[in-house]
Formats: sequence, structure tokens, C-alpha cells
Amino acid sequence: MRLRSKIHLYSSVLFAILLIVMNVSTYYMFSTLSVNNELDRAEAQTLQIANAMRQVAGEIPTQDLLRGYVPVDGMIRMIGPNGTSLAPVTSMSQQDLSKQKAVYDTTKRVQVIDDLDQRYVIVSIPVIWSDGEVMNIQVTESMQSTMDTLQVLRVVLIVVTCIALIPVLFSIRLLSRVIMKPISAMTLTMKEIRRSGHFKRLELQGQSKDELMEMGMTFNDMIQLLENNYKKQEQFVANASHELKTPLTIIESYANLLRRRGLDRPELFNESIEAIHSEAIRMKEMTEQLLLLAKHKEQWNISMETLNLSEVAMGSAKAFRNAYGREIHVDGQQEVYGYSDEKKLKQLLFILLDNAQKYSDDDIVIEVGSLEGEGYIRIVDHGIGIANDKLPFVFDRFYRVDEARNRQAGGVGLGLSLAVEIAEAIGVRIELHSVEGEGTTAEIWIPREVFKIS
Ligand code: ADP
Repeated sequence: MRLRSKIHLYSSVLFAILLIVMNVSTYYMFSTLSVNNELDRAEAQTLQIANAMRQVAGEIPTQDLLRGYVPVDGMIRMIGPNGTSLAPVTSMSQQDLSKQKAVYDTTKRVQVIDDLDQRYVIVSIPVIWSDGEVMNIQVTESMQSTMDTLQVLRVVLIVVTCIALIPVLFSIRLLSRVIMKPISAMTLTMKEIRRSGHFKRLELQGQSKDELMEMGMTFNDMIQLLENNYKKQEQFVANASHELKTPLTIIESYANLLRRRGLDRPELFNESIEAIHSEAIRMKEMTEQLLLLAKHKEQWNISMETLNLSEVAMGSAKAFRNAYGREIHVDGQQEVYGYSDEKKLKQLLFILLDNAQKYSDDDIVIEVGSLEGEGYIRIVDHGIGIANDKLPFVFDRFYRVDEARNRQAGGVGLGLSLAVEIAEAIGVRIELHSVEGEGTTAEIWIPREVFKIS
């Protein structure tokens, strides 16, 4: 069964049961109350008649007395201890009641009976008569008017239940449609994505912040995530196959050369091995960077904290000095703090330091300081620099200012694009200033925690 039909069916049945239970209990309470009222009234009336009859007993013939007190819709009679009944007096409409068997009661009796297709209340009261005998004064009265009222009530309640169910059924239908609409739209979008192979988003209308809207927004976020991942992987495959082609071709051609002439010309051997080795290292480096770029930021395990930027800079400089044997000076303030992820910030510094060492020969300087609520780490080199017109492109993937020159230096054009991704993930900003032939300054701007919270 479809979800919409289920919602419809369950809610309708539940509401119908609720309505029926409510109306049945209303009817039950009302009918009990009416019958009890009728009994009380009949009892009070019979007592009154018994008192009045006893006072004039002996003065007026009993038969006349009975005739005087006969109820409008019933019968009155007197029954003696041996079951003898004076001729019962009935109203015009209830003459058949006189055929009822006379039963003598020693105590007061108030009873409801069904007889002659009708419901009656019988009140029997023992009284001491003028001759000293205990007689029963028995009044039988029809409850037809009460029964008629209850019948009308029954019909009214049934009609009201049926009428009330109509708008309820409509509103439940409307409700199930409102609930189902975004779900159906989502299913449709998913099917469309599967059919076309393109990522699509739900069109979210209205400003409401309800769960359905939230579900739609979550769905769109999820699709965005999937699309990003998909694009990244697509890009990875395209970039990798494109960029790995050159080193693989170089390796292949040197390997061919070695195979054909390696034995005749041993001087080729060193050159070929050297080229194959350096291309293999380039490929390894490129693959590592590509893999990192292909990873989604959510998988980077970023952990933000307040960092002493001078300590981070000094730690990176030391590690870099040991690895590359290049002199790096750290200048500036000692107590500069920033809010970021230590590991990723160091990775960022490594990328910028790596560029500085690749494209310069002089000492490299790291400056640490703060300005207008932000901390900064500057990496200054006095190397070849970047031409002004090339500067805007250096953050693009695989962009190299000078292909030939970079191939020698070992760059693959991925360092700065990776740096931008890292910067975005850890909430810092990168700026690059350069003068061709004079050198380059790469700046990392790190917000302070207080700044971030406000
Ligand atoms: P690569 O791995 O080739 O260095 P990057 O993305 O790190 O790739 O840099 C892109 C290009 O920007 C480099 O190829 C280089 O030409 C230029 N570049 C980056 N940093 C510097 C620098 N400090 N000095 C001179 N040129 C630089």
C-alpha cells in the first residue's frame, strides 16, 4: 500500500473511531440521565398520589379516587395482599395495560419494563388503607416520550458523525498530500538523477522552517556533496591521466633508448636512469597531491584551536632547514596567536616554503606578526619572482609560469591550488605579492579566536 493511502486510511479510521466513541458515550450518558430522571419523577408522583389517596380514603369510593389520579399515558390500580386488584383505571391510549398481571409487593418497587411494544415505568407503593389492610398503589406510566427523544438524539448523532467525517476525510487527504509532496518530489528527483546521470536539486518553495523543508534542504546539501565528490574524482581522473602522460612518455622513451642502445652506448645509461628517476619522483609527488586534492574537506579531520603562530613558524622552519639544508630566518613578534588547525597550517607553510626554496637561491625569511585583529605569517624570498600578468593564474591547477623552468625545478603546478583548498578548510587567507626578478612574498592571514567568535 502506498504511504499516502496508509496515512489516509489510518487517520480516517482513527478519527472515525474517536468520533463514534465520543458520540456513543454522549448518548449513553444522556439516556441514563433521562431514564433516571423519569424514574425519580414517576416515584415522586406516585408517592404524592398515595398520600393524597390515603387522606381521603373511606370518604370517596376507591374506584373514583383511582379515576381521579390516572396518569395521562398509563394506568393506576390498587392491589390487595391476596393479589386482588381493584379494576385498574387506564388512560385512553393505554387501555391494553389493564391486561397486565397484578403483582403484590410488600416493599416499594420502581421498575422499568418492556411490554406491549413499549417501555413503561412501574412504581408500586404499599400504603395502610382505611380498613387497616396494606394495599399497593401501583402507577404504570409510558416512557414513550423519553424513548422518542432518545431516538431523535440517536439519529442526530449518527447524522452529525457522518457530516463531521466529510471535512475530516478531505483535510486528511490534503494533509497526506502536503506531507507526500516533498517526498514524491525527492523520489522523482532521485529517479531523474539516476536516469540522466546529472545531479539535480529540489526546488524548495516558501520560507517555512518545518521538518519537510529541512529534509529538502538536507537532500540538496547531500546532492551538493555528492556532486562535489563526483566532480573532484572526475577532475582527478582527467588531471591524472593528462598530467601523468608526460612523465610516462619520458620514462618510456628513455627505457626504449636504453633497450635499443644501452649496451652499445654506456654514456646514455646515467642520463636515462637520472631522467627516469626524476620523472618517477615527480609522478609520486603529483599523485600524492592529486589524491589530497581529490579528498573531500570533510575527510581532512580538521581540529581548530588557538595556536602560537611564532612557534608554528619556527617549528616549520626548523624541519624545512633540516630537510633542504636551506637557511630560513624567523623574524617578528613572539606572542602572536591565531585560530586554526596546526597540522594543516604547517602543511600550508611547507607548500609556500617549498616554492620559495624552488624559485630562489638566497636565504628565506619568515615574518610573524599581527594587524587589525588578524595574525599573519609571511614567507619572503628573493628569487625569480612572478610576472604581474601571470600572478592571477598561479593558483590554478597545473599552472606553471614557465614550463621548462619548472620542470627542472620539479614543480607540477599543484602546490598553490592545494594551498588554496587547505586555506579554505582551516579558515585562513593566502595572498601572493611578487615582483619579477626581485622575489615573492606569500602571506597567510589567520583570524584570532575572539575575532572568530564575534
Ligand atoms: P609548482 O609545484 O609548479 O611550484 P605551484 O602551484 O606551487 O606549482 O605554483 C605555480 C607556479 O607559480 C609555479 O610553477 C611557479 O612558476 C610560480 N611560483 C609559485 N611560487 C613562486 C615563488 N615563490 N617564486 C617564483 N615563482 C613562484
